[in-house]
Amino acid sequence: MTSAQPAQSERIDTDVVLIGGGIMSATLGAYLKRLQPQWDIQLFERLDAPGLESSDPWNNAGTGHAALCELNYTPAAKDGSVSPDKAISINEQFQITRQFLSYFVDNKLIGDPKSFINPVPHMSFVWGADHSAYLKTRYDALKPQPLFDTIEFTQDRDQIGQWAPLMVAGRDAGQEIAASRVAGGTDVDFGSLTRQLTEYLKNDGATLHFRHDVTNLSRTSSGAGGSGSGGTGGWEVTVKDLETGKTKHVSARFVFIGAGGGALHLLQKSGIPEGKGFGGFPISGQFLRCTDPAIVDQHLAKAYGQASVGAPPMSVPHLDTRYVGGKRSLLFGPYAGFSTKYLKKGSYLDLPGSVRANNIYPMLAVGAQNLGLVKYLVSEVLKSRSAKDDTLRTFFPEADGANWELITAGQRVQVMKKDAKKGGILQFGTELITAGDGSIAALLGASPGASTAAPIMIELLKRCFPAQFAGWEDKLREIVPSYGQKLNDNPDLLAEVTARTNASLKLA
Ligand SMILES: Cc1cc2nc3c(=O)[nH]c(=O)nc-3n(C[C@H](O)[C@H](O)[C@H](O)COP(=O)(O)OP(=O)(O)OC[C@H]3O[C@@H](n4cnc5c(N)ncnc54)[C@H](O)[C@@H]3O)c2cc1C
Repeated sequence: MTSAQPAQSERIDTDVVLIGGGIMSATLGAYLKRLQPQWDIQLFERLDAPGLESSDPWNNAGTGHAALCELNYTPAAKDGSVSPDKAISINEQFQITRQFLSYFVDNKLIGDPKSFINPVPHMSFVWGADHSAYLKTRYDALKPQPLFDTIEFTQDRDQIGQWAPLMVAGRDAGQEIAASRVAGGTDVDFGSLTRQLTEYLKNDGATLHFRHDVTNLSRTSSGAGGSGSGGTGGWEVTVKDLETGKTKHVSARFVFIGAGGGALHLLQKSGIPEGKGFGGFPISGQFLRCTDPAIVDQHLAKAYGQASVGAPPMSVPHLDTRYVGGKRSLLFGPYAGFSTKYLKKGSYLDLPGSVRANNIYPMLAVGAQNLGLVKYLVSEVLKSRSAKDDTLRTFFPEADGANWELITAGQRVQVMKKDAKKGGILQFGTELITAGDGSIAALLGASPGASTAAPIMIELLKRCFPAQFAGWEDKLREIVPSYGQKLNDNPDLLAEVTARTNASLKLA
């Protein structure tokens, strides 16, 4: 303890600080423990346990996003054509995730895969002539791609009724419907996975601190640097122990801000130039959940539809089978909404507190350009419970709202950033921000989210640890055997990886 610090403070020196106990920190920590086992890792989470914010199974939809059914990855161009490119890149990312998970299961570092991943067919379901024609065009674009060669398409009611009986029974016989389906989709309990990965971290020597709130970050000029890019300095992380009220001063060579919705504030506190100009647009959400086995057992699919006009791409309605805690249930939604909180357990001051001189212009520009989105969110917020049940019945015509409970989902914080032409743009993807010297990184945004933690963290390792990365590649290939190769361009390797990961993860 130095005299300049408050009386009740403790010093910790470490190689790596992970801020936040969600899927992102857990995944990065798991890679680092395998790649550089001797590095000391300290994880700080303000809640009581890991995976309780966005990574909690009921705060997200648990879709293993592989672009098998989500239509926002394959928008129709002005001429009506559909490009498979974005869908291929999303699917390639999920293939990395499958291999990462298989490695941890095969090496008995985490538990039974059934506790966090289960096979659930992925369907796209639309109605109306235009949407049906679009779905057929999408099918034609994806079918020749090796990653999508098992996709099926039909406009036949009986066939759709076999795939998803609840979605056809009681539907207007005159309504034109179409569906596509990939049998090999997945449902993922990212909360369970986060808990198992953090447990692995603990067993392998990392120190986990729960009920610890990171309140500040500042650069240290000398002494630390090294585990990052071999940079010139590290970071002093100030942490409040919420149980004792004491402060911890943690000196770290590398810091990952994996604080989910809390990441923007901490990034701003770091003051790194790469973090300037970013803002966060919070979108809240609700789901309807049904646990009645008589209904639940009649639907085995994640069935995604088309977004409403003005809706953000991630607010596409879907009727999903979920496996959480060994129990099967159904989830429908999300119903988007607006709240100024950046975390579900955050503060209403989060949005106003993030406004800075360097991001106010991009934020205002985004607001002005996205009036359709604002209008959509307002209409969603005002939607009554019976209007929500009506939306459910567009998917499940005979649904009785009494069998469904409304639950609050996690907060998404969409990235707003500077744009030379438009002043500011709203981005629905994920933004990995790294300092020039590799000593700190932050993750903003929420989509495709948890499904892509494994590939995103490889990118982070490459950017932040260039001095070590070449030496890690052999181990990385052990964890992700297809590392560095595109499976869509290599059907034999794809078949091998699919067979191996299906066996390891008990998906087939
Ligand atoms: C409605 C909804 C549906 C979604 N559906 C899907 C889906 O189907 N598939 C998919 O792959 N992804 C989905 N996502 C996205 C996915 O949930 C997120 O991308 C992912 O969980 C983010 O993980 P994370 O570790 O970054 O954040 P989180 O899981 O939110 O973890 C961040 C942690 O940091 C902690 N924290 C914050 N600030 C501090 C601080 N100052 N000090 C200490 N700790 C702090 C928080 O308490 C939290 O535990 C969805 C998200 C939402 C909201």
